[in-house]
Amino acid sequence: MPNEASAKPRRCPLCGKPRVEEYKPFCSRGCRDRDLNRWFDEGYRVPVDQPPDGTADDDRFDEG
Ligand SMILES: [Zn+2]
Repeated sequence: MPNEASAKPRRCPLCGKPRVEEYKPFCSRGCRDRDLNRWFDEGYRVPVDQPPDGTADDDRFDEG
């Protein structure tokens, strides 16, 4: 039975190689770490968008 037709081969989203169960959905620890580092890197680069003083929002607390 051609079962392989229904089961799509999962591939590493980073490099496209066949993934490994241990590091899924990636193909290796390298790719997994790369993805993690990417997230961390973006987290550091993106400036935190928070107001210096949320005085305007304080008014809403009195409502009610
Ligand atoms: Zn990979």
